[in-house]
Amino acid sequence: DRCRTSGKSYAWFDQDSTVLQKRRLSIMSELRQGLKNGEVNFAYQPKVNLLSGQVEVVEALVRWNSTTHGFIPPDEFIPIAERTGDIRHLTDWGLETAIRQASDWHNQGLEIAVALNLSANDLTNHRLPDQVMGLLNRYQLPIRLLKLEVTESAVMHDMDRALAVLNRLHDLGLFLSIDDYGTGYSSLSYLKQLPMDELKIDKAFVLKLASNMEDQILVRSTIELAHNLGLTVTAEGVEDAQSVELLRQYGCDMVQGYHICRPVSAADLETFVRNQKENAPA
Ligand code: C2E
Ligand code: MG
Ligand code: MG
Ligand code: MG
Repeated sequence: DRCRTSGKSYAWFDQDSTVLQKRRLSIMSELRQGLKNGEVNFAYQPKVNLLSGQVEVVEALVRWNSTTHGFIPPDEFIPIAERTGDIRHLTDWGLETAIRQASDWHNQGLEIAVALNLSANDLTNHRLPDQVMGLLNRYQLPIRLLKLEVTESAVMHDMDRALAVLNRLHDLGLFLSIDDYGTGYSSLSYLKQLPMDELKIDKAFVLKLASNMEDQILVRSTIELAHNLGLTVTAEGVEDAQSVELLRQYGCDMVQGYHICRPVSAADLETFVRNQKENAPA
């Protein structure tokens, strides 16, 4: 009896994992086509400078509305694309799209830098720095208007090659952020070796900041640590006004989160930035 029950549930589980596997396979095979067909877009989420109240940077967050699967969140398809190597196509598309968008804004007199997320695979690509420089040149974009975000785990994936690529990018003048800080194998000795300009505190420590004393201690000491290492700090996942106030008290440089603005289309972002400028204190 016991056997039959577990046999049944096993069969059910197995079927379920086959469905998942099929979905994975089909996602894999469709990403390249989706990129070509214009199914993939960026949503842009502002980072607001707490001193000036201005949007100086927006993070580009990929959105895939697949004709076959509907909306597929990046947390689902990016890990798949990383495993298959298809992430290369997303990065090629992302670099050009981010740079073209920042260049459009620059030409309209809107000085908004675009921050692009890179994956582990990108950091093992020694041609990436030349690719970035080639695109900046093609779109005549000042280097300060492109920023790159990398996670600790992406760096650790192949530390030596990642360091070579990151050092080259940094030497060329690119602004680099360490993303999702605090969720990985954060070690101070690694942090010290990385050529970083900014540290982004992961939303896991920020979402409940206003009510969680432990998060308050961690966030406050991380900001102090980052500043002592010469890094600026962005807190992501800021969902309420009280958290903004706390972060201001802690000396945090930039905030990003639903309380300020959700990730939105380029057009909505422009409206948000223009309104922000009008309402900013003189
Ligand atoms: P991330 O770079 O750490 O981005 C922050 C994530 O937190 C985004 O999720 C954003 O929508 C979400 N978020 C922002 N503010 C809030 C908030 O106040 N509350 C909550 N609950 N969430 C907030 P998203 O867009 O689903 O992206 C997930 C991850 O996918 C990103 O994490 C990044 O690692 C990756 N990703 C996104 N776009 C790209 C891309 O173009 N290339 C690569 N390689 N990775 C990307
Ligand atoms: Mg990011
Ligand atoms: Mg992040
Ligand atoms: Mg994150």
